Amino acid sequence: MDALTETFTSTGAARSQEYDAIVIGAGVSGLYQLYRLRELGLTARVFESGTGVGGTWYWNRYPGARFDSESWSYGYSFSPDLLEEWTWQEHFAGQPETERYLNYVADKFDLRRDIQCSSHVTSAHYNEDTRTWTVTLDDGRRYGARFLITAIGVLSAPTMPRIAGVETFKGQSCHTHYWPKQPVSFTGKRVAVIGTGATAIQTIQTIAKDVGHLTVFQRTPNWAAPLHNARITDEEMRDIRARYPEIFARCYETNGCFIHQPDPRSVFEVTPEEREAFWERLYAEPGFGIWQGNFRDILVDREANALISDFIARKIRQRVKDPAVADKLIPKNHGFGTRRVPLETHYFEVYNQPNVKLVDINETPIECITPTGIRTSDTEYAFDLIIYATGFDAITGSFDRIDIRGVDDRRLKDEWRDGPQTYLGILAEGFPNMLMVMGPHAGLGNFPRAAEYSVEWVTGLLRHARDNGLTRIAATPAGVAAWTDHIAALGKGLLSNEIDSWMTGVNQNVEGKQVRRIMRYGGTFPSFRQQCDAVTANGYRDLALA
Ligand SMILES: Cc1cc2nc3c(=O)[nH]c(=O)nc-3n(C[C@H](O)[C@H](O)[C@H](O)COP(=O)(O)OP(=O)(O)OC[C@H]3O[C@@H](n4cnc5c(N)ncnc54)[C@H](O)[C@@H]3O)c2cc1C
Repeated sequence: MDALTETFTSTGAARSQEYDAIVIGAGVSGLYQLYRLRELGLTARVFESGTGVGGTWYWNRYPGARFDSESWSYGYSFSPDLLEEWTWQEHFAGQPETERYLNYVADKFDLRRDIQCSSHVTSAHYNEDTRTWTVTLDDGRRYGARFLITAIGVLSAPTMPRIAGVETFKGQSCHTHYWPKQPVSFTGKRVAVIGTGATAIQTIQTIAKDVGHLTVFQRTPNWAAPLHNARITDEEMRDIRARYPEIFARCYETNGCFIHQPDPRSVFEVTPEEREAFWERLYAEPGFGIWQGNFRDILVDREANALISDFIARKIRQRVKDPAVADKLIPKNHGFGTRRVPLETHYFEVYNQPNVKLVDINETPIECITPTGIRTSDTEYAFDLIIYATGFDAITGSFDRIDIRGVDDRRLKDEWRDGPQTYLGILAEGFPNMLMVMGPHAGLGNFPRAAEYSVEWVTGLLRHARDNGLTRIAATPAGVAAWTDHIAALGKGLLSNEIDSWMTGVNQNVEGKQVRRIMRYGGTFPSFRQQCDAVTANGYRDLALA
């Protein structure tokens, strides 16, 4: 037993068990973190609320749930064996395939023996005397660890709409995140969908094929562009395998870790004809190219953004037969790409079906849910099934739902009331030995590419602690203030930061989340990585280590 482990296991008599590290969450991030902790020779336990592993891909079983990232750019890159063994079925895999993949990973690396499912963490408290954390589950069991690693997701705290009478509905109802494991039949049913974000779009386009009648309640339309999914042939998979080094090298270089990279030209450097031809090509290509691979100025220049928004609006008008419905589906309060762009498959055509109705709740607000359906200001609708596609309390929501207390009993939720304050998106001041994988203010993008980096950075820091007998890792107040200021400065000029969305921490259904905040690192992922690497290279001198 090394010095570090010895110190860990000698503390916390009232706790059932002691570990070097406790990880919360068994999604893409938590699974990989566990793998790396094992390699370091640390004892670790992962607590997961769900009954299985997979995080996002365990929970979101709603019809049509799938990637907008290319499957083969999303999978883990760390294991050549895994890359060789796993065969992706579709270019943009559906939830069942991704859940199978993450279970395969858990089995292949024998991760399950350290993962405790059905274990919801309600609190995590730091003790300065022992320099350890005590984690409490909802059944009262307590566990101790030197290090607390949060891998609790950015879109994992679902929110219900604040509408009176939700609990009175006598039919079936479900939030997309909590979709049941048993199949749900839509045949002949009168179905309501509340919400028109990314999950709603995937749900609507999928169930529209089967429903008796579908009513979509829309508050804010979202810009969406075609996904162009397809099955992967054996030959394509062979080619993808051969190109993995090239694919990951590309994702390593791009701004958002996708295979797509902004075109270095400005919208205004080309003729209108060239511009249209470029946009037609992007619109016809699979994936996020239209968002992440567009002209460099569409997300920062209002006029450039107005041009691409106009292009997408014209597409919607072409695809939706009724001009009044098309107009309702065209966003007016934000430009294309300034919110996370949902990718769709025949979504707009759904509104050409005679059994589908779009209700704009700005015109006729929902007054309440009734035992039989939904009452708006002008009528009452009867439904057999209500689907709440009302999204998440994003980025900080999963933190707010755990009673996390640091030095002097300081509550993380209070510290972050006006917005998160972090160092590199990984540490928070006053919360020693708590390390956040993919925390707020960290570089985001094609998720596993960013999460692998985050896990590896955290692992490097823990290796440093192990090798130097350190028992306390903390961010300095100056470090947190400087990083938080840096994030605010980077956020300036990004049109997305001038819009209410989950990316700016706004959720009308959550108290105290009506004001925009800077939640994300606004620079490119390569610059984020460079800044984090610099901290490692100078021996973590910017941290307070003891
Ligand atoms: C519908 C949907 C589609 C998406 N599509 C894409 C995509 O195409 N490309 C992309 O890059 N990203 C996508 N994302 C983002 C997605 O969340 C990430 O890709 C990735 O899955 C996040 O992994 P994670 O492990 O960090 O978090 P999660 O997968 O969210 O896992 C966090 C886990 O922590 C657990 N947890 C949280 N709090 C507690 C607690 N208190 N106690 C115990 N356990 C807890 C949760 O139950 C969950 O299982 C999508 C997200 C959603 C919701």
